[in-house]
Amino acid sequence: MNKAYCQNCREYTEYTIEKRIIEEYKGVKVNVEEYVPRCNRCGKELFVQEIENDNLNRLYDKYRELTGIEVRWRFRKQRKNKNA
Ligand SMILES: [Zn+2]
Repeated sequence: MNKAYCQNCREYTEYTIEKRIIEEYKGVKVNVEEYVPRCNRCGKELFVQEIENDNLNRLYDKYRELTGIEVRWRFRKQRKNKNA
């Protein structure tokens, strides 16, 4: 069973991974899958570094494929704060 620290519950809880599609990134249609861990107890989104890294790599690879532009690390932080 997957567990991660939930800031809302203030303890390690089990989570379920939800699949979503990122349709657009920085004005470009990317339609990339992203996986979002959600706390089974309170229903809030959790932050799991490993999953987030996979999401970002998938997104940035697609974006680079489409535009030829390499996404720099500073943009990664911006995206992470989006759901805060
Ligand atoms: Zn929770």
